[in-house]
Amino acid sequence: MSKVRTRFAPSPTGYMHIGGMRTALFNWLWARHNGGEFILRIDDTDQARNMDEALGPILDAFRWLGLDWDEGPEVGGDHGPYFQSQRSELYTSACEKLLAAGKAYKDFDPPALTQQDREAAEKEKRPFLNIRRSLELTTAQVEENEAEGKPYVIRYLVDRTQKVSIDDHVRGHVEWDCSLIPDPVIMRGDGTPLYNFATVVDDAQLEISHVIRAEEHLTNTAVQVMLFGALGYDLPEFAHIPFVAAPGTKEKLSKREKKIEKYRKNPQFKKLFDIADEVLPKLGLGNSETLNPVMVSYYDAVGFLPGAVFNGLARLGWSYDDKTENMSREFLIENFSLDRVVKSSAGLDPDKLLSYQEYWIGQFSLTEKVDHCLRFLQEAKFITGDADEATRSKVERLIAALDDRIKLFSDILSYEEYFVTDEALVFDKKAFKKRISKPEQATALLAKYRDHIAQREDFKASELEEDFKTWLDANDLGFGDIIHALRVATTGKPAGPGMFECLELLGKESCINRINRAIELANSATE
Ligand code: GLU
Repeated sequence: MSKVRTRFAPSPTGYMHIGGMRTALFNWLWARHNGGEFILRIDDTDQARNMDEALGPILDAFRWLGLDWDEGPEVGGDHGPYFQSQRSELYTSACEKLLAAGKAYKDFDPPALTQQDREAAEKEKRPFLNIRRSLELTTAQVEENEAEGKPYVIRYLVDRTQKVSIDDHVRGHVEWDCSLIPDPVIMRGDGTPLYNFATVVDDAQLEISHVIRAEEHLTNTAVQVMLFGALGYDLPEFAHIPFVAAPGTKEKLSKREKKIEKYRKNPQFKKLFDIADEVLPKLGLGNSETLNPVMVSYYDAVGFLPGAVFNGLARLGWSYDDKTENMSREFLIENFSLDRVVKSSAGLDPDKLLSYQEYWIGQFSLTEKVDHCLRFLQEAKFITGDADEATRSKVERLIAALDDRIKLFSDILSYEEYFVTDEALVFDKKAFKKRISKPEQATALLAKYRDHIAQREDFKASELEEDFKTWLDANDLGFGDIIHALRVATTGKPAGPGMFECLELLGKESCINRINRAIELANSATE
């Protein structure tokens, strides 16, 4: 095999679709698996947009997932430029070559006439083929038309006797009968190329060895194979990979507004939307209307690990065997193969994504978890400025106490009570009523325990726990008599990590302040 060179060729839309990212990942994995090169080419011929805005999110998604590109925007390369809008000369000269060889022609038929031909074919139930009236024109007539500025398009002259085929890595042998294929437009009158033409010129000039792309392009491949042949280029290998479906469906995952509304109600997909609505407002990033799980940027924003998404995307339509689920980047590079890509669509699976996340976060050291969680705490302004040693240590102790409750790094934002001032602590209304306002003894017991801990020197969880037991015995109390009230008073919530770890995290002063506030609140409510 000659050097493996793959490419991903996004149109700059300001948006990186998770399904497109999967296509990019397969290209990247195949290149890396073979020690080859991965190229980013920007298909921007139809764009009249601000390139930074349109391309920025795409490149950010690549960087986040850790897919580096050997040639393309920002890094350059020997085959540049990598923006189609800057490659016009290549298309023009390839088109001139075809015109000179009589393999393409200027079609002066007005679009309305071509449409009529198409309708006539439909009516007669025969495949539409161009009538090729312009081929009857003499050179002088063509020149006259051009001098008059008569509009035309340039069409490739399909050899109707030909059959073309590919041996697709996923689809197997696919053959097309060219006698059924209309002459495709390759250049518009204004000299801009059409996708099928530009992509062939580019794939050849970029020396792409494997075209790995979405299966919807399989129908375009017939024309592309003809063009490769007509231009005398070597044919790359092809792998048309199945589309990514919406969870639990066989429908292509779409970014369209209407579909997004439907996805919100999809029982499997809903949980990812709910995460966005829970987390993004805290970060000042809007909600699931602004970022949703069809976009790659959603996963970064809500605290997924790139490694978990990488793992999840690799499993969309590809498997190593029938059991291995958790796979590292290195393992995937080593073992990725095109022959294990399946033909049928692969449904995005939120539960699986969350389980990869759980697995990969479990491989992280406490220090790494702290670093990631700090980012969220800072973004949500739970912590201002750089975290000093004391803050870091508090976050570290909190994460240790939470144990595997942190599944997404943004989960740390559910523990606001450890970052707010004592005055700002919000008590859960229902829990407060049930555990503090209602039980007759609650405030008195809280006051008693407060006075007890006020005398303590150390405030370590293990010692607090021992001491608590002794205190209960001495006062002839049971665990359940006060523990719930104590939890609600100090954390505002009915549940959380180990009680004594919570107390240690908050520190003596805070615990006392909070108990006092709870007692006051309960008293003022009953007055
Ligand atoms: N720009 C095309 C697309 O986004 C590229 C298709 C291809 O890979 O050939 O669909």
